[in-house]
Amino acid sequence: MMKLHLLGVNGPFPESRGATSGYLLEAGENLFQFDLGSGVLGALTALTAPELLTALFLSHWHFDHAADVPVLMYRLQALDRVLPVFGPADPDSALYRLVRSVPCFNFSEVSAGNDLDVSGTRIRVNAARHPVPAVGYTVSFDGKSFGYTGDTNTLPSLAEDYRGCSLLLADGLFPREAWTEGKPHLSAELAARLAADAGADALVVTHLNPFIPRRILLEEARVIFPGTRLAEAGAVIDL
Ligand SMILES: [Zn+2]
Ligand SMILES: [Zn+2]
Repeated sequence: MMKLHLLGVNGPFPESRGATSGYLLEAGENLFQFDLGSGVLGALTALTAPELLTALFLSHWHFDHAADVPVLMYRLQALDRVLPVFGPADPDSALYRLVRSVPCFNFSEVSAGNDLDVSGTRIRVNAARHPVPAVGYTVSFDGKSFGYTGDTNTLPSLAEDYRGCSLLLADGLFPREAWTEGKPHLSAELAARLAADAGADALVVTHLNPFIPRRILLEEARVIFPGTRLAEAGAVIDL
């Protein structure tokens, strides 16, 4: 059994009292944190001591996904603890260079196509299309699977990467009228199309921009994938 905690669901900046991308996945005894955006560390600390995470997985190094990483560093240093961190290589990112240079993070570089065994759990690394190096992840545990796209626009491989997910957590920032092929994100409608093409059991659309009305995203997505939910900070989803 897996359980997903939505800690931060906004991007690229938070709404009032909100947080940008951050999701905690419980998979048996393991605690996998996906992204650690602005405001996520406090929300995570309300659930568990962050140094007890099995590992932190970063989709990419944009600040709305990794801003709390250097703050987590202070806590780990205070406790003299080391945390495994997985993420794509991005030498242009100051956060990437920081994580590689301090001993409290045990960093492993990942790239699309990697098949990881992390503390007995299978985690596959998926491609993403974004202006900086970025990946998504699929976690398989106990007959279920959780897919997280990170930030991405369309990519032919996505439907295969997220095939049959029990739960797909997908970037769907744009309403239809604002999306173009050259943008850094999917639309909610295209996230729904991905969930349908992949045969996902459930879809949660995330990376919600405070300036974009949620109602429009939900309406457009539900035409394609009727069970679509929008991410809500604090929500807990069993899968
Ligand atoms: Zn983002
Ligand atoms: Zn991004």
